[in-house]
Amino acid sequence: MTTEPSKAPPLYPKTHLLAASGIAALLSLALLVFPSSDVEAKKTTLSLELESPAEQLTQDQDAADAVQATNEPVQSPFAQIENSTDDTQQTAQAAPAPVVEEKKNPSHKEVVVAKGDTLSTLFQKVGLSSTLASEILASDKQAKQFTRLKRGQKLEFELDSDGQLTQLHSKISDLDSISLSKNAKGYAFSRTTAKPTVRSAYVHGVINSSLSQSAARAGLSHSLTMDMASVFGYDVDFAQDIRQGDEFDVIYEQKVVNGKAVGIGPILSARFTNRGKTYTAVRYTNKQGNSSYYTADGNSMRKAFIRTPVDFARISSRFSMGRKHPILNKIRAHKGVDYAAPRGTPIKAAGDGKVLLAGRRGGYGNTVVIQHGNSYQTLYGHMQGFAKGVKTGGSVKQGQVIGYIGTTGLSTGPHLHYEFQVNGVHVDPLGQKLPMADPIARNERTRFLQQSQPLMARMDQEKATMLASSKR
Ligand SMILES: [Zn+2]
Repeated sequence: MTTEPSKAPPLYPKTHLLAASGIAALLSLALLVFPSSDVEAKKTTLSLELESPAEQLTQDQDAADAVQATNEPVQSPFAQIENSTDDTQQTAQAAPAPVVEEKKNPSHKEVVVAKGDTLSTLFQKVGLSSTLASEILASDKQAKQFTRLKRGQKLEFELDSDGQLTQLHSKISDLDSISLSKNAKGYAFSRTTAKPTVRSAYVHGVINSSLSQSAARAGLSHSLTMDMASVFGYDVDFAQDIRQGDEFDVIYEQKVVNGKAVGIGPILSARFTNRGKTYTAVRYTNKQGNSSYYTADGNSMRKAFIRTPVDFARISSRFSMGRKHPILNKIRAHKGVDYAAPRGTPIKAAGDGKVLLAGRRGGYGNTVVIQHGNSYQTLYGHMQGFAKGVKTGGSVKQGQVIGYIGTTGLSTGPHLHYEFQVNGVHVDPLGQKLPMADPIARNERTRFLQQSQPLMARMDQEKATMLASSKR
């Protein structure tokens, strides 16, 4: 019931990362691009053990005391592309010190925003008057975007031979730049968004300790690891089935600007070998534009229920008709499964359904009960709290976060008590055969195979190439 998640010893697995740029022969396949409508990708932020430095780097990106000091891909969903420009911005590392630098060109000056800076202090630092700063701000309504300064942001000034400001330019994100250019009337504002190149990347990993650690070492981001767990979540129980030696291959989409990864697209295909059994998944967007994951031969990955409502938790107590209750200290049936996980870990709805209860229920504490169709009901107890929008009488989607791990009610430590009922009878959720969803439509089968076969072939080739090169 209670218990802290056990910390695995720091093992160093033979994991491998191969960037898509690697093998020329595979480049033709590397350019496979799918529309990036976000259908199945469930972006939950699980509180995993964030022990790897790679994970921490992406967490700390806000610190911003170094501009573009990291090549870690940006986790945030990818911004809209308004117009394409050839972004000639240098991705050179900016000096963190707020010192004015005179670059090769004498009429070019740049300054890095430090704590407490305003546009007028920055103007003063490059020898321009703060009056000019206010004039510029008044000259175009959108110019005030230059007042939303972030520490570490670089401002570039172009001056003419008389020392007059002709252009002010700043890169505000990996993709966006803003500028003000002098014209006859004053200064005109413009904003440009670079169009990223889309390519696909391959990653292979072997599980040596936990999935999250092994994935991070293989170079798979936190969010893609979550996505992979969601994709295989119907077949693989990530809470109890993962074993040392399990393997995965993932091909995912990457958005790149100036050689720098600025966005991670969806997983295009993946393979997960769990205890010797291999599962495949291919993302397919049908003619109606809906994307979903299928096995390589076209069966849906989706089923009516996901295996476990909490990813990366540990089963602390199983379904049983008679066990000693840890608090009541007498023999009582345990009509559910307990998943121990840190407080605040998200809990997902096992399937689509109607919320019969989102509230307190005696010894269960904060509880959600969901009705799925006519025959099935699931119950989630001891929650710390409910997710936003989850309330009695409402409805939820499969995989939607409904609440967070806690220890409310009769409970000795943070865990989820999960029950599954079929026609009013409690059954062991771990023993259930899960109802299946529909396979690829017959009239889309050819198109599906045209997309899935090259992806499967590429995973074979990449893996073979990689294993060969690691033996050398
Ligand atoms: Zn329980």
